[in-house]
Amino acid sequence: MDLAEYKGIYVIAEQFEGKLRNVSFELLGQARVLADTIGDEVGAILIGHNVKPLAQELITHGAHKVYVYDDEKLENYNTTAYAKVICDFFNEVKPNVFLVGATNIGRDLGPRVANSLQTGLTADCTGLAVDDDNKTIVWTRPALGGNIMAEIICPDNRPQMGTVRPNVFKKPEADPSATGEVIEKTANLTDADFMTKFVELIKMGGEGVKIEEADVIVSGGRGMNGPEPFTGMLKDLADLLGGAVGASRAAVDAGWIDALHQVGQTGKTVGPKIYIACGISGAIQHLAGMSGADCVIAINKDEDAPIFKVCDYGIVGDAFKVVPMLTEAIKKIKG
Ligand code: FAD
Repeated sequence: MDLAEYKGIYVIAEQFEGKLRNVSFELLGQARVLADTIGDEVGAILIGHNVKPLAQELITHGAHKVYVYDDEKLENYNTTAYAKVICDFFNEVKPNVFLVGATNIGRDLGPRVANSLQTGLTADCTGLAVDDDNKTIVWTRPALGGNIMAEIICPDNRPQMGTVRPNVFKKPEADPSATGEVIEKTANLTDADFMTKFVELIKMGGEGVKIEEADVIVSGGRGMNGPEPFTGMLKDLADLLGGAVGASRAAVDAGWIDALHQVGQTGKTVGPKIYIACGISGAIQHLAGMSGADCVIAINKDEDAPIFKVCDYGIVGDAFKVVPMLTEAIKKIKG
């Protein structure tokens, strides 16, 4: 393989019901940083039906080129068909790097593409950099239960691939004056490329704000002692602030709240403006999911709880007393 032939850092843009996922913008921002370091260009691949209008948004957030595969057959995500489109794209355009969001779809699609192209993929990355010596991408991810950070490279094969967790990188500001090229492509698909059939979309997690997208998260841990606070006092405070309810794994494992709300290494990585941790000790695996929060407020009755080492504001006290007081005080301020 002549590595010099492979050019461009490409984000596999993810959209759902005609709206681009935030992680696609976050990846474009970081792709731009990497591309500027190695003197390469940034591209995006957009797949779906009636998605062409979204291409401009990708350009204003950093893409120089957007390849659009707009086809009725691609309206709903389909693992084998989407993977075929991306593999065909790779064989034609020869990109150097594929960045994929570590979303449910990205975690399904990325490994399938990597396997088909016989290349490596680093899953669930929390950092991306460039190796000074050979200009390959250095993919960072937690390993051994979060106790070490592994740096992984893919020196001999192309594309270099990784899935990157949402909220690891900040979404770049849109530049309305940015210009780029939109290239419309035709997906070369037959019925045999669809190994599964879309039957029905069943949405999980209700209509509320999703923790991945929330500006405020009120999270509860084992200290909440049962399911009631998650639908009661924590939700009341979250609703008042226009936010979402999160949870530690201990609370999820106890069955007090659905796993969709879990924050941490085996849960979601979140990046809210405010993260309120109630009855959460601050285990390293929990911190791995919320250390991107701008401001952390911890409420814990143990003054030695590790969460107090990482928070911006700490309240030593019983969450069952503090949270309702906080809610009342904010209600008064809001009038
Ligand atoms: P605890 O550690 O038991 O802490 C409960 C806290 O509540 C204590 O600090 C206590 O002082 C406080 N408290 C009790 N009552 C009150 C009260 N009335 N008011 C105020 N405070 C009170 N964990 C995650 O969260 N997310 C993950 O994704 C995750 N992934 C993991 C992956 C691996 C491979 C492993 C090994 C572990 C993982 N864990 C994860 C588990 C993690 O190690 C901790 O066990 C877990 O985070 C602890 O949850 P907790 O803080 O709610 O419970």
